[in-house]
Amino acid sequence: MTEYIPTIGLEIHVQLSTKSKMFCRCDNNAEGKEPNTVVCPLCMGFPGVLPVGNATAVEYGVKTALALGCAINKFQRFDRKNYFYPDLPKAYQISQFFFPVGEHGSVAIDYLGLDRKTKKEFKVGINRIHLEEDAGKLIHTKDATLVDFNRCGTPLMEIVTEPDINSPEEAKAFMQELQRVVRSLGVSFADMEKGHLRVDANVSVRPKGQKELGAKIEVKNMNSFKFMEQALKFEIERQIKVLEAGEKLQQETRGWDSKSGTTILQRVKEGSIDYRYFPEPDLPPVVLTDDQISQWQNSIGLPSTLRATAERKGLPYSRVFELQDKDKLMLFVGVMHMRVELNPIQVANWIEKFDNEEKLIEFMDVVGKHNLSPAAAQKYWETGQIPKVMDEAVLKQAVEQVLTNNPDVVARYKAGETKLIGFLIGQVIKQAGSGADPASVAAQLNKLLAQ
Ligand SMILES: [Zn+2]
Repeated sequence: MTEYIPTIGLEIHVQLSTKSKMFCRCDNNAEGKEPNTVVCPLCMGFPGVLPVGNATAVEYGVKTALALGCAINKFQRFDRKNYFYPDLPKAYQISQFFFPVGEHGSVAIDYLGLDRKTKKEFKVGINRIHLEEDAGKLIHTKDATLVDFNRCGTPLMEIVTEPDINSPEEAKAFMQELQRVVRSLGVSFADMEKGHLRVDANVSVRPKGQKELGAKIEVKNMNSFKFMEQALKFEIERQIKVLEAGEKLQQETRGWDSKSGTTILQRVKEGSIDYRYFPEPDLPPVVLTDDQISQWQNSIGLPSTLRATAERKGLPYSRVFELQDKDKLMLFVGVMHMRVELNPIQVANWIEKFDNEEKLIEFMDVVGKHNLSPAAAQKYWETGQIPKVMDEAVLKQAVEQVLTNNPDVVARYKAGETKLIGFLIGQVIKQAGSGADPASVAAQLNKLLAQ
């Protein structure tokens, strides 16, 4: 049987976590809101309105492009992409066609092979990254199609890779790395199931030895890492079967159907659609200075630094991102960004108790400076008092004093009333001051009582 080489390129849409939408002041967090309530004349495409670009979205786009090794376009411009669809009330989408945020990037990925032991490495070229606005959402019911415009105008970043991916495992490893990068940059929550991170794949197969790529088939609707892996695996096998049967493949778009575990034909491509791109006349171009770009470059040491810190301290990098609460995740990323020297495990342990970056950093600084044990740190958090770190000799003296002062209690303890240890610990702490932590007091008491 002929051996076939699969070739995969990805087109990823990343929903940016800005406060407001791309070109209007509407809240960018419409999750769980009533349909068509988070809208305004601008994102509804009313005539005569003027869009205003979201500067944070540009910053997020540039930071991501820098993190993925792209060359940044200092001159960027928005263009109109014209097409009609019921979820797009303006009948055009504002995108960046001619001057995207960044181009010609590259990401090095390593991952564990199927045996979970062999480390594999590969590189994925980034063709381009551009910004655009999202369309609304169509909801198909039994007897009608409804439209929700809440998502209209949500800032999106589209990342297009080169066809450098050769297996479903590589595609998954790339997407997981991309998720880590955008999360650690704090530019997206990147939850695939919630549609923050959406991926379409161009898949082809060719017999080994053939240079020319096979017919490119687009696969959509893969809304989890698992589905993406399954869909790509199915599609590669399907294409090989068609070729082995002596038939031809044509350019088409297919959708993953998780119920049947197959890809289903959606439409056959007949030439490319002409979107009649032209510069958006209502928005000035974005012009960046070298200073601005290097400032952003300096601020994103994060993904690699955070990863190195986590690994050095023995914390799996990915575990950091298991923090489910978005606000806590952002807080964590912010704190680790400000203070890369902090221990990520400790920060993760304390994050539940804080919702303010400065306060948490201040707290971690005190804990670090006084080298507080977890119990002492807890005490400091409760009382605001820094427990003094007790000198061994001082503690011993306090214990001896308490034992001398309470001969009857000591006698009863030795006769078997072991619960009296609690009373003795209390007396020692009273004697020694708040710096004595119960664990060391108990250890010292047990030592002397055993003599
Ligand atoms: Zn709006």
